[in-house]
Parts: sequence; C-alpha cells; structure tokens
Amino acid sequence: MSKSASDSVKVREYKLFINGEFTDAADGKTFESVDPGNKQVISSIAKAGPRDIDQAVAAAKAAFPGWARKAAAARAKALQKLAGLVLANNDTIAELESLDVGKPIRDSSKIDAVTAVDALEYFAGMATKVEGTIKPVPGPYYNLAVREPLGVIAGITPWNYPLLQAIWKIAPAVAAGNTVVIKPAEQACMSVLFLAELIQQAGFPPGVINIVPGFGEDAGDALVRNPDVAKVMFTGSTETGILIARNAADTLKTCALELGGKSAVIVYKDAPTDTAAKIAAMAIFSNQGQVCTAGSRLLLHESNHDEVLDKIIAIAKDVKLGYQMNEETTMGPLVNQEQMDRVEGYIESGKKDANLVYEHQRPNLDGFYVGPTIFDGVGNDMKIAREEIFGPVLSVITYAEEDEAIAIANNSEYGLAASIITRDVGRAMKTAQAMEAGNVWINTWGAVSSMAPYGGYKKSGYGREMGFSVMHELTQEKSIWINLR
Ligand code: ADP
Repeated sequence: MSKSASDSVKVREYKLFINGEFTDAADGKTFESVDPGNKQVISSIAKAGPRDIDQAVAAAKAAFPGWARKAAAARAKALQKLAGLVLANNDTIAELESLDVGKPIRDSSKIDAVTAVDALEYFAGMATKVEGTIKPVPGPYYNLAVREPLGVIAGITPWNYPLLQAIWKIAPAVAAGNTVVIKPAEQACMSVLFLAELIQQAGFPPGVINIVPGFGEDAGDALVRNPDVAKVMFTGSTETGILIARNAADTLKTCALELGGKSAVIVYKDAPTDTAAKIAAMAIFSNQGQVCTAGSRLLLHESNHDEVLDKIIAIAKDVKLGYQMNEETTMGPLVNQEQMDRVEGYIESGKKDANLVYEHQRPNLDGFYVGPTIFDGVGNDMKIAREEIFGPVLSVITYAEEDEAIAIANNSEYGLAASIITRDVGRAMKTAQAMEAGNVWINTWGAVSSMAPYGGYKKSGYGREMGFSVMHELTQEKSIWINLR
C-alpha cells in the first residue's frame, strides 16, 4: 500500500525557530519542499535571510551566559527530556525524513530518530563530565586548567540525514554549555523544524537552540560571517567547506569540517565472498549512496573479482527501487532534480571510460529515481573514481598485490573512510594503519557511535564529532593561577 503525504503527515507550513518562538522571516519570504518520490509540494518553509540570522545569533548570544552557568546536571536533564520526546515521535520523524529526503520508510523508522536518541542520551551524560586538570607547577602556585564553553555555535548541516546531523551538532554543543544556531540544508528541513517543536516542549530556555532554515549563499553565509558566532560546525561538500573556512577566518572563528569522501572498500583474496559482497553493496547502496562515507570505490583482488562482483550484481538486482513510503521499498529516489542530473552525468562519464556491468531498471514513477549502477574495469584516475558522486554508483577497480590495493585506496584527495575485508588479522591491522582515512572499518562498513570519534583526513575535513573529541572541539581551556603566599 502506498502512503501519500496527506495520509499521515499533515502538509503544513514551517516557521523559523528563534528565541523559543516560531516566527516568519523578516522579509516574509518562503520556499517549498518537494517529495522527491512524486514531485508533489509537501511544505512551505519560512526562508531565513541575513536579518533573521542576526536575530537568531543575538538570541543565542543573550542566552549563553545563563546556559553556561546552569548546573551541568540541569543541561543534561533537558537533553534527556528531548531524547524522550524524539523517541516518542519516532514514527512522525521517520515519515517526515522519508517524504523530504526520499529514504525508504523501512530504514528511516529504524535509523534516524533512534540514532538521534542515542546521541542525545550520550551527550546528556557527557554534560557532567567536562573536567579540567590541576597542573603540577612549581610553588607557590596552583594552576587550574578549566574547560569552558565557547559561546554561540553555528551548525550548518546537509540534507542526507537532516535530523541526525542537527542533533550531532546540537547535543554536544549545549551539553558543554554553548548555545546554538542551526542552519539546516534547504533541500530537506521538515524534520529539523519538527524537532524545534520538541525542543520547545523539552523546556530549553529561549535562545539556547535556534533553527533557521534558509539557503547557503545568504543565510549560511551570514551565519558564518557573524562576529558573535564562536565556531562553525559544518557537514557538507568539500567545496563549501573550503569557502566556509575562508569566510570564518575574517573573524578568526574556528571550524570543524566534515566533508566529502571517495572511500575505498578493499576486499582481500582470502575474504569470504558472500560477506564481502554484502558489505560492499551496503557501503554503496545505503541511503541511495547519499552518504559521505559511501564505499564508492571497490577494490577487488584479481583472484576473487568475478565471484564477488557476481554476488554484488545479484544483490543489486534484488533492490526494490520505488516510492519511499512503501514498506517493501529498499531504495528510494535521490533527493532532487539537481542531484539526479549530477549522478546521471557521472553515469554518462562512466559509460565512456569504463564497463557498465549493471544498471537497475527505473520504476515508472515521476520522481528522481536512479537505481544501483555498477562499473567494472575502472581506473583510479577516471572521473568516476576520483570525484564524489553521492549516488548508488559503484566503481570496481581490480588489483594484484596488497601494496597496490593500499596505494590505490590512498590515492585520493579525500580521506574520510575505508573498509577492509579479510580474515587475516595481521593484514587487516597493517592496512588499517596504512589508511589515510579518519574512519576505518574492518569486516564491516558504516558503523558509527556517539562514543567514537568521527571525521576526515585530507580534503575530507578537520575536527572531530562524537565522543570526548567533540567536547574538546566545543570548549576552550582557561589557565587559572593561584598564588598561595
Ligand atoms: P551539497 O553539495 O550537498 O548541497 P553543500 O556543502 O553545498 O552540500 O551544503 C551543505 C550545507 O551548507 C547546506 O546547509 C547549505 O545551505 C550550506 N551552504 C552552502 N553554501 C554555503 C555558504 N556559502 N556558506 C554557508 N553555508 C553554505
């Protein structure tokens, strides 16, 4: 049974969330959100411009001293309460996320809100664990190095996991005592604006968390340049990340940048071929390939190349490409026309350079559908092996020697992730050590946890999210000297 937007989620208007209240944009502008599975308009969203951004930052700035001084346990309690509300609204969040982004409802009902709750609970616990140190300086002094929040944090997020990306910025920032302005991606912000309603219910003081949907070039840009923003936490493309870092430098604010990738999945000759095929398929087909860490380059050893590739093709054939709200759909549409054009451009380029071995049949639906697409005989210098496609397009590269596989995996301007598939512990660890990548998975792909640092090497960015690492990103040390005489 197909569910349309109006069956379950009310098609509605969303406003900006500034200083604890929902408000129109100062100039009254709005923009529309479209269901990528059928091109129907599903919502109208207030479009923040620079004036709205300034107001949101001013609200966050005014809220900061009170929030920073609040007992850490009270900050934790507010995050716990929000976690409970997100969990209770799992189904609504899943529907909004699927309608807006195109991800299959069977995935969003298990992944997005659930992972967000994990992060909210983890960082609630972290609020009371941001500790300083006492240094053994020579007498007659004590030196206390205390960790303090930075101030107003700007979170600029992408459209592939809208709610989760916002939570990964909000939760650690407010746990540490910062206040936040989130600028979600213009392509998909319904779930984040629904989250704003839950934030209001959770009882965060006005101004602690503000959410201002708008476009990158005006709202995003104004946020990055605002002198009252202390730090920019950004997830998105490398191109935009570089621009943001450049613009942030004018006011000497720091950034944490989680950017693009062209991650390799290395299958060694001893790898069990069923497992290898499953991991490789998951790495490129999850979320329609619209994942920063997508395993878009598959490195197969010449001895098991044919067997693994055949098994991946079999998995690709089983993919149910269709309307994302249908329970049986396992792959939905891409997020919008622009993304579809981009992915199709890469498929054309692949057809010229490499061997197309599988292209999934598209459903007869008026949406942005591109199915699993597999190229064999890919050279690592080809466009489809070098550039981030952000779609379900796999480039298969064949190698003969282990060192060759490692060299190919590292021969990329990106360094976000790598997967290694082997039963040989020594080979796995030697390769993990050699990978120029911020995340390495052995015999799996895509594992993330609120506890484990997450971020990139090289042009995949700098700074880390999750764990104690992000608490260090979001605090600064103050050195206090006490003369005991
Ligand atoms: P994509 O290519 O996936 O759309 P972007 O990196 O352009 O990714 O976008 C990620 C986020 O960055 C979005 O919220 C977008 O609005 C924002 N953004 C885009 N351009 C700018 C900019 N010049 N300044 C600040 N934010 C921007």
